[in-house]
Amino acid sequence: MTRKPHNQDAGYIASRRHPTIKGTPGQGGTGWVVIYEAELQGIDVDGLRYAVVCCSHGTIAGESSMRGARSSMKSPANFCDDCREGF
Ligand SMILES: [Zn+2]
Repeated sequence: MTRKPHNQDAGYIASRRHPTIKGTPGQGGTGWVVIYEAELQGIDVDGLRYAVVCCSHGTIAGESSMRGARSSMKSPANFCDDCREGF
């Protein structure tokens, strides 16, 4: 397992692990939230530049600014219902 499993992905910008989120298999039991350049990763978020992905739950948020993207990365409960409900 690499320390940052997503940094080879197309359009990768930043990632953060969230010990409170259950990870997907192979990710060491800890959930990740990743910021991508949406177009490079092939994610359509209504034309917004950045896509913030809760990997454990498959939830995607679109953000127009890096500032907004970083804020969503820090607080995935703001866009991910499953995180908010503690799954
Ligand atoms: Zn989530």
